[in-house]
Amino acid sequence: MQERYVAHALLYILLVINIAQVLATVLLNQWNNRFYTALQQRAEATFWIELQYFTVVAFLWVILAVYELYLTQWTQMRWRRWMTGRLTGHWLDGGGHYRMRLQGNQADNPDQRIAEDVRMFTENTLALMIRFFSAILSLYAFVLILWGLSASFKYNVLGFDLESIPGYLVYAALFVAVFGTVCAHLIGRRLIGINFLRQRYEADFRYSLVRVRENDEQIALLKGEAAEAQGLARRFANVVANWFDYMKYTKRLTWFTSFVNQASVIFPFILLAPAYFSGAVQLGSLTQTAGAFGRVESALMIFTNLYASLADYKSVVDRLTGFERSAAGARTTPPAAIVTERNGDHLKLADLSVTLPDGRQLVSAPDLTVKPGDRVLVTGPSGSGKSTLFRAIAGIWPHGSGTVVSPSGADIMLLPQRPYFPVASLRDAVTYPSERGAYSDAEIVEALEAMNLAALTTRLDEEAAWHQTLSGGEQQRLALARALLSKPDWLFLDEATAAIDETGEAALYKALCDRLPNATIVSIGHRSTLVNFHDRRVHLVKDETGLHVAADAPLMPLVKG
Ligand code: ADP
Ligand code: MG
Repeated sequence: MQERYVAHALLYILLVINIAQVLATVLLNQWNNRFYTALQQRAEATFWIELQYFTVVAFLWVILAVYELYLTQWTQMRWRRWMTGRLTGHWLDGGGHYRMRLQGNQADNPDQRIAEDVRMFTENTLALMIRFFSAILSLYAFVLILWGLSASFKYNVLGFDLESIPGYLVYAALFVAVFGTVCAHLIGRRLIGINFLRQRYEADFRYSLVRVRENDEQIALLKGEAAEAQGLARRFANVVANWFDYMKYTKRLTWFTSFVNQASVIFPFILLAPAYFSGAVQLGSLTQTAGAFGRVESALMIFTNLYASLADYKSVVDRLTGFERSAAGARTTPPAAIVTERNGDHLKLADLSVTLPDGRQLVSAPDLTVKPGDRVLVTGPSGSGKSTLFRAIAGIWPHGSGTVVSPSGADIMLLPQRPYFPVASLRDAVTYPSERGAYSDAEIVEALEAMNLAALTTRLDEEAAWHQTLSGGEQQRLALARALLSKPDWLFLDEATAAIDETGEAALYKALCDRLPNATIVSIGHRSTLVNFHDRRVHLVKDETGLHVAADAPLMPLVKG
């Protein structure tokens, strides 16, 4: 609320500054007449007075220019801060970012749209708004002046007295401007699409660079540098090709706008010269009128002169609205989707059929119940859809049909095979995503020790890219420590101990069962030793239609998929 008042106030101040600026140009336009008339008449006293007048107006002008820029920048950042927060929210809320990718209607490079496009949008909106506002103001002011001046410029074309048309100079300026705008649009409209792609290719390129940085170890191990260099060069080739397109159309547009701008310098003089040479008007009046004509013309030519910026702006707006559309699409669940309810006593999968985003059947669970306190092992060949079944249970996988009823009010935690850690202090990494300070250091140290990570307990304050420095097994231990801290009622482990040796795994499961005695644990795993920590097994078997069906199977013997 308060934010909005400040924004409005800033905007009004900016508009007032612009009004003052237009006033100053009007004053200077009138001064121009007096000054040159004084020069022509060799009136030295008037000359000095007019110089003082100019100094005062110019000084005010400088103050206005400084504060206009300062307040504009301030407003831009406030606005950008607001908009960034809003878009980040739309992107992240309710797992939208994940579903945007799943549904395949993701706008390309959301990161770039949030970072770059928002910046360009706020900067350009304000700059363009102010340009248009001051163009309208100066149009108003100088049309009045030009209208009045038109009458004194006698001009006879083919026996027709132009000055008999009231304000004919205004019409002349209007004609030039309409002509210029139409031509600029015809020449430059391709720039909109080109700019859109430019944003995209630049972001693609940057993202590839980030991927190399993130996966440096695998690339170094595989000696994938040459392949990466090629991939990067390919992406950059898009940037270059697009740039040549951009250059081509910008060049055409620049040919035109520069030509028009230069022509508009002499155009009023050609129009006004006959009247001057006939002696009907003084030099001062000539320069004032030429100045006023130029102002009117350039205000009317704003579309022509800003065409490149407007094309840029349009592409940024397209990217942002595309992002919003995609985010809104991700928030609305598809008509045929897995229904998740959180009102049961047990976890119950009823007629659940999980499909891939393209509609292919993956796994089904006609009737499966897990009671609180159960220890269930889920097995099945790799690629059979175990992880996707977990995603459906967690409620982030909408594709399919049927119902997932999960226990009401229960804390559910799912640990994937490759845990995620923010680049932050170890304390924040292990307690993620809890709020900072949710756990005391003693609790954290205790959990780390229970997961056999005593060596890390002295490094709680250390900031590092933990996903790159810790070994796979250590990362999985750290993720389990996270589970120990948050004490979920339902813990789903998706091969969450697969990188740990069998003895270590046994110790971890024992620690988990000891510390979370009431928790329901559902694990996915391939190791036969895992049966020791579970009392039920659900196996994914292929039925005659090729679909994997989750059904209870004997705990022993564990059939390898
Ligand atoms: P697993 O049983 O090994 O955990 P997953 O559930 O991870 O198997 O994957 C099952 C199948 O679904 C695989 O063939 C995988 O390629 C496919 N799959 C998983 N996620 C997606 C996705 N987002 N889009 C398309 N196919 C997917
Ligand atoms: Mg899996």
